Amino acid sequence: MTDNDATRPAQRDPDCLFCKIVAREVPADVVHETETTLAFRDIQPQAPTHVLVIPKAHHRDAVATALAAPALLTDVVVAAGEVARQEGVADSGYRIVTNTGRDAQQSVDHLHLHVVGGRGLQWPPG
Ligand code: AMP
Repeated sequence: MTDNDATRPAQRDPDCLFCKIVAREVPADVVHETETTLAFRDIQPQAPTHVLVIPKAHHRDAVATALAAPALLTDVVVAAGEVARQEGVADSGYRIVTNTGRDAQQSVDHLHLHVVGGRGLQWPPG
């Protein structure tokens, strides 16, 4: 499989919530879409802007995506920037967060970038 093939939504996990959102089997408030990515509002927003940006293809996390399909990881980051611009937080500032694994409280094992902004954000994170 070439890297380009890996960007297509061929790999789907039938038990994955975000794969079901990509397939429009579970509703979501979609704010941005490209051939390879989808962005939708987090159901439990932590800030005025809280959007999740995902690859349409199923990859567990950012590193798995970078290893299997590096161009797809770029697509997701570029889409996050587009979402920030669309949401009006590109100039004021925003955070791109991706939780990986249990200790980081990753609850959905399908790469997702949280794009969070619209208020002052604390650092360090908890
Ligand atoms: P994480 O805990 O980093 O894996 O993030 C998963 C995020 O998905 C959480 O912020 C949830 O609020 C969010 N979430 C869970 N189910 C949905 C859904 N159906 N639509 C939108 N966001 C969701």
